[in-house]
Amino acid sequence: RAKSAGGNRYELADAEADARAITRHGLTTALPAALDRGEFFIEYQPLVHLGDGSVHGAEALVRWLHPQHGVLGPDRFIPLAEHTGLIVPLGRWVLEQSVRQAMVWQERHSDAGPLRINVNLSPCQLTHPGLVSDTVDILERVGLEPNSLCLEVTESALIGADDDLLKPLRRLAEMGVDIALDDFGTGYSNLANLRRLPVSILKLDRSFTQGMQQFPADPVDLKIVEGIVSLAHSLDLAVTVEGVETGAQAEQLRLLGCDTAQGWYYARPGPPDRLHDLALVDATG
Ligand code: C2E
Ligand code: MG
Ligand code: MG
Ligand code: MG
Repeated sequence: RAKSAGGNRYELADAEADARAITRHGLTTALPAALDRGEFFIEYQPLVHLGDGSVHGAEALVRWLHPQHGVLGPDRFIPLAEHTGLIVPLGRWVLEQSVRQAMVWQERHSDAGPLRINVNLSPCQLTHPGLVSDTVDILERVGLEPNSLCLEVTESALIGADDDLLKPLRRLAEMGVDIALDDFGTGYSNLANLRRLPVSILKLDRSFTQGMQQFPADPVDLKIVEGIVSLAHSLDLAVTVEGVETGAQAEQLRLLGCDTAQGWYYARPGPPDRLHDLALVDATG
């Protein structure tokens, strides 16, 4: 960091160049110790019912408070953690923290309806043999109902998935855990394929939401979303939309029949207590 007293432009420029020059290598080697030292933390972004705007739950989004470089978003380090395998213990840590947090919300706001928690899973976690047992173990130790948990898997991770890959997800789904297909619409999957996946929720990618910025929205975008929603509903899947930034988008997506939404229009990802406040306002009117 550039010294503020007496710091000059060159120092600042150097610092910025340094920051940009952080190599993948440097971050990669720092990852395991970061987990031991507790440098990761989780922000929660509310998911709301489009019908009445009430809070449905939240998605857990991991961040890394790096001692030199400040807060790093998941796009900076999740790919590195996937590459080295650290994603397995990191993912397990995120799951346990998030499940504990959901339990705290539920205990504090029993009148708000059971708030649910969504946790992202990497493809490497899907193929890890401990996925089902770790998840069951965490839910049991914490005492959270399986149907309060939703695991998000990207569409691309499941493209061409064979039965071996789907088996653990199927077992979790049978226990009552919801599986959501994240970033849906970006992965060119065969729509007929949806029937064989143990998913109960489609999360429509932000790129679709972006097409709804104007009112009225682009007619082609409207038709596409309308088609996806009707297909999803006919397969008994709920539709969540991500990246809702304006009231106009929320209204269009509600009219199109989407069920739940997430985005800056409602709230940015934030500390767990913020969800308390939102849900409490909800419950008390
Ligand atoms: P995602 O699961 O699709 O999460 C949604 C991303 O969209 C988040 O980015 C969120 O902050 C951002 N977002 C939410 N609302 C808006 C909006 O209205 N406008 C815009 N422009 N963006 C919005 P974030 O937190 O940077 O996470 C990026 C990705 O990193 C996530 O995408 C997810 O795939 C991955 N990720 C995050 N946490 C974890 C984790 O614990 N494990 C794994 N494996 N992946 C994670
Ligand atoms: Mg997600
Ligand atoms: Mg997503
Ligand atoms: Mg996304």
